[in-house]
Amino acid sequence: MSTTVAFIGLGHMGGPMAAQLVRAGHRVIGFDLAPEALAAAAAAGVEAAPSAVRAAAEADVVITMLPAGRHVLSLYQEEGLLAAARPDTLFVDCSTIDVADARAAHAAAVAAGHRALDAPVSGGVAGAEAATLTFMAGGGGEEFARAEPLLAVMGKKTVHCGAPGAGQAAKICNNMILGISMIAVSEAFVLAERLGLEHQALYDVASTASGQCWALTVNCPVPGPVPGSPANRDYRPGFAAPLMAKDLGLAANALRAGNVDAPLGLKAAELYADFAAGEGRELDFSAIVRTLRPAAEAGLRAGPDTHSHTHTDTDTDTEQNGTTAP
Ligand code: NAD
Repeated sequence: MSTTVAFIGLGHMGGPMAAQLVRAGHRVIGFDLAPEALAAAAAAGVEAAPSAVRAAAEADVVITMLPAGRHVLSLYQEEGLLAAARPDTLFVDCSTIDVADARAAHAAAVAAGHRALDAPVSGGVAGAEAATLTFMAGGGGEEFARAEPLLAVMGKKTVHCGAPGAGQAAKICNNMILGISMIAVSEAFVLAERLGLEHQALYDVASTASGQCWALTVNCPVPGPVPGSPANRDYRPGFAAPLMAKDLGLAANALRAGNVDAPLGLKAAELYADFAAGEGRELDFSAIVRTLRPAAEAGLRAGPDTHSHTHTDTDTDTEQNGTTAP
């Protein structure tokens, strides 16, 4: 059955996602503030609307794929998207945003007489282009059932994670695991280098032992062991470091809001924020290994002698490993 979809936000992700819906025979009315994004979508068969409000007014389902929560909330409310839509329109937000913003967007949609689902994605631009995204959905069962046929066109897997905001929660929890594990894998390679252990030898052991994880076996941060990983092409993304920094920032917000003590999640957010603002701006997130090497070197140079605190039994290990207290 053909559905009329308003698609707002036709950037790197939204553009190819909207094109998949067109290919599947749906009527897609699109809008983006960037004229070039709108023109590219139009070339793929999306009907270009003069505004987001005009697109939403004709739609059964409104999909948004925007940079952050403030864009979603402002479109829904101040810019009048909810007011313009027909009653009972389904609003599906696929952007990655704060859990709190996602819940606020749900509440606003429902208060305006509509339905809502948060459905962020993983899989990146390549997944959007190949229709192999994974959707993580939060909202009611009816809303999920209504959205699922459209999500199935744009992705290969859709998981109903629970109540409003649960999709965003799943997304940031998953990416917190990924950010921390990439740092862990990178630190292990740096330590291996220091110990004279070949990258390939560490890989051969850890990839089939308890150190096995996606950061190691798919996105390996050193060149060689996994020929397809970004490390083999000068760290061209892949999953760009600023996107990891964004997702870890959302995880950190949720940790603070929920009073959850998660030192590694917060540290990973801090390391990626620094990396993405500097050297990592245009690199894959696995390139963080480059900044961990000099950090380890600096730790060695500083060494135990520069410490002014009194030695205790408990700090002996860190001293011997050459790491310094901050
Ligand atoms: P993008 O910047 O390429 O696209 C966002 C688009 O939204 C832009 O074209 C912008 O002009 C448009 N926009 C902003 N405000 C608007 C408004 N008020 N009305 C209409 N259009 C508006 O970003 P992207 O890479 O497509 O990412 C979109 C979302 O998907 C983000 O939340 C991101 O975190 C998430 N995401 C991205 C990736 C990825 O690999 N790029 C992967 C997973 C999730």
